[in-house]
Amino acid sequence: MSRKVLVLEDESSIRSFIVINLTRAGYEVIEAETGEEALEKLKDSGDIRVALLDIMLPGIDGFEVCRRIRATNTRIGIIMLTARSQEMDKVTGLMTGADDYVTKPFSPAELTARVDALFRRAGGAAPEQVGEIRQDPFLLNTRNRTLEKNGQRVKLTQVEYSIMKMFMENPGKALSREEILDMVWGRDYFGELKIVDVNIRRLRLKIEDNAQNPTYINTVWGYGYKWGF
Ligand code: CA
Repeated sequence: MSRKVLVLEDESSIRSFIVINLTRAGYEVIEAETGEEALEKLKDSGDIRVALLDIMLPGIDGFEVCRRIRATNTRIGIIMLTARSQEMDKVTGLMTGADDYVTKPFSPAELTARVDALFRRAGGAAPEQVGEIRQDPFLLNTRNRTLEKNGQRVKLTQVEYSIMKMFMENPGKALSREEILDMVWGRDYFGELKIVDVNIRRLRLKIEDNAQNPTYINTVWGYGYKWGF
């Protein structure tokens, strides 16, 4: 099974940072400095499963590269690399067919978590055992709707269970309060976003080693939450 990732980034320092970290995580990395070069390399190597695309580039930009890839390839996972000042670009990037985006500067852990998540979704890793999601120390049983931490049952409400499932299905992904509300409470729910914070505070007390200093459910300030280690 291919572990190939394409990295399109014109700044060599950022590109090497990505290459070093993805290589360390077990990926085979193919580098490109321009959009044109990226499209060439994608054509030459048919089994690239995930592409990381910078937006600001000499020549065609990352959005255009994304559009051209998607015109012929719906399977490949695409992550846009955005700068902090490019809030609107995130939306545009996802509209042109990207699956995810990472904001610069990002940590190695964040980067590999995003790539891992797309690989899993693209079927690049061993499929999850049906009825169970295991992310040590957690084991979520989706048949019984139960959670274990280090083999010990954690008693959850139905809402808390749904939040855990959502997080474990989206590792490393920043989820906005609105998204969480939609996914857990449903789109027709017209409650306040505060309910998300309240439930997550309670869930942290149950699953974190230290709820004051959470390491599993991380706060993304001004946005929402992220499941990550
Ligand atoms: Ca750039």
